[in-house]
Amino acid sequence: MSAENAGTGGWVCATCGTMHSGLAMVFGPDAPDPWLAVSDAERAAGELNADMCVLPTADGSIHYFVRAHIEIPVHDSDDGPFCWSVWVSLSQESMRTQAEHWNDPGRAKLEPMFAWLCSSLPYDAPTVPLPARIHTREPGRVPWVELQPDLDHPLVHETHTGITMHRVAELNRTLTEGA
Ligand SMILES: [Zn+2]
Repeated sequence: MSAENAGTGGWVCATCGTMHSGLAMVFGPDAPDPWLAVSDAERAAGELNADMCVLPTADGSIHYFVRAHIEIPVHDSDDGPFCWSVWVSLSQESMRTQAEHWNDPGRAKLEPMFAWLCSSLPYDAPTVPLPARIHTREPGRVPWVELQPDLDHPLVHETHTGITMHRVAELNRTLTEGA
């Protein structure tokens, strides 16, 4: 498994022999699926920013979400992992802890928190909901998502075994074509 840097920022792919250049390494939706599914009026009662989302529902409960990264190792790249920028739901207690430690320089020491993946991703099996844990990192970095490791799911397999730049190129094509 190899890829050669062609000197222009592109790569000659070992799988298909073409150049893959200018590929995005981070993709993800701007809001959790439940937020995207409700009406403008329901959204007006909630709150969404780049990192957090609060969504009251008709039954009186409140859903809490944070943005986090699922990292997939890329074997033939020096640019680090491919990241799904996703939303996960947290308990009210976990959300309170997140908020309280938002600017805490030591927040990476927080215990992992149980979460549900709440972003649909382009895999053959549904990605919502998948059980996970989030690991808080230092301020300024989104948490990373550890999907429940024994799940028999293509996304979980990719996080374990990694992917190639060819797969990253396929994902880029799928996602930018909106397929
Ligand atoms: Zn390729």
